[in-house]
Amino acid sequence: MKYISTRGQMEPVSFLDAVMTGLAPDGGLLLPENLPSIGSKLEGWKNLTYQELAFEVMSLFTTDMPADDLKHLIEKSYSTFRAEEITPVVSVGDLHILELWHGPTLAFKDIALQFLGNLFEYILEKRGGELNILGATSGDTGSAAICGVRGKENINIFIMHPEGRTSPIQEKQMTSVLDDNVFNLAVDGTFDDCQHLMKSIFGDVAFKHEHSLGSVNSVNWARVLAQTVYYFYSFFRVQECTGAKEVQFSVPTGNFGDILAGYLVAQMGLPIKKLILATNENNILSRFFNSGEYSMGDVVSTLSPSMDIQVASNFERYLYYRIGKDSAKLSELMDGFAETGALSVEGSDDLFAAGEGNTAETLATIRKYHAEFDYTLDPHTAVGVAVAEKFEGRASSPSEPLVPTICLATAHPAKFTEAIEQATGEVAHHPELDKLADAETRCDSIANDEADIRDYLISKTAT
Ligand SMILES: *Cc1c(COP(=O)(O)O)cnc(C)c1O
Repeated sequence: MKYISTRGQMEPVSFLDAVMTGLAPDGGLLLPENLPSIGSKLEGWKNLTYQELAFEVMSLFTTDMPADDLKHLIEKSYSTFRAEEITPVVSVGDLHILELWHGPTLAFKDIALQFLGNLFEYILEKRGGELNILGATSGDTGSAAICGVRGKENINIFIMHPEGRTSPIQEKQMTSVLDDNVFNLAVDGTFDDCQHLMKSIFGDVAFKHEHSLGSVNSVNWARVLAQTVYYFYSFFRVQECTGAKEVQFSVPTGNFGDILAGYLVAQMGLPIKKLILATNENNILSRFFNSGEYSMGDVVSTLSPSMDIQVASNFERYLYYRIGKDSAKLSELMDGFAETGALSVEGSDDLFAAGEGNTAETLATIRKYHAEFDYTLDPHTAVGVAVAEKFEGRASSPSEPLVPTICLATAHPAKFTEAIEQATGEVAHHPELDKLADAETRCDSIANDEADIRDYLISKTAT
């Protein structure tokens, strides 16, 4: 299996090269040359464990890796999870909640970043060399990425966060990791400033090569690949208990990485009736799926900060398929978007149903599930549930059976305890997070200045 760029100007590369490449040199994102069809394999996969299933799915995409190596990486990556099933599905009212937060940092990002961290280590062991990861975070990605590579040989990780602007728990989760290869930088600026610094440094290709810079954000194909597995896994679990032949998924969406995995899985042949795309007030994606217009607004802060995003980096991958894999047209659309902040496409996509869950609905949904079912949703998951309720099991005709809805639960509620308290009057706890209260931390403050960041990188990586 080879990987190509959405913009069509890159020679196809193997899986391991795709992982190291991150963003394609032509500015596009990497995708498999073609998507394997799994229709006939499904029946044989239904009784597999999460890890066995991950192996079957991933091996279709990782043809330059020996089977035993892939198996070993999968075992290692999910051995850090606190749930034996890795991603258990629980029934709450009429919904099926797919809990994706049993990893070490209690957010769904662990599913991909535990795997990516081990994969980086594996590639460096095989090929030699070193990797310096540079990332910017508003919270969840930083701690999951740090946790994925802490203590690993030949890898350093530098994570910039906006000083004083992440939640106290998120900051503690990052800065309490004291391994020698972990560098937390508190930047005197906003998240946008951090992201801008990162993009500007990555844009200097000579510097990027000289210092072996690598990326952990969701432009990396391995992250999308790791996220396809739980769509299969949860389908089988819900099929077991309902007998359903089809399901629909509700996905709280920010950068379009999580739901993109669902889209690819549907193309591969998993019977998905609908993908319900849920946004908060930062609704560029729900507007797009309802109108065909993709136009940037201002980012507003909400109770679901990991979805406070306007420009969704993985949207380009979807758009590539939507316009019939026409790289020239895609490049034109993306260039136009970079210039004007807007693009539009014809027609519609029946696989998607999209909606917005605002702050009041988010709080009401947390309150309702807490009161009626004694189940606490985190605010991101609550956005997905609020929007799912608007579309729940909707059959196109009265004679059609209702379709079970699987809601992706993307974080443990205790990570966002202020929202939980606001909704329910109670404090959400998790023993791992409670432990952080007295944890020792390490972090360097730094100016919002690219030259300072570069000097810092150079001083810590000089050998
Ligand atoms: C990152 C994140 C999301 C959004 O996922 P995308 O892949 O960016 O769409 C939703 N919820 C939580 C808790 C997250 O950390």
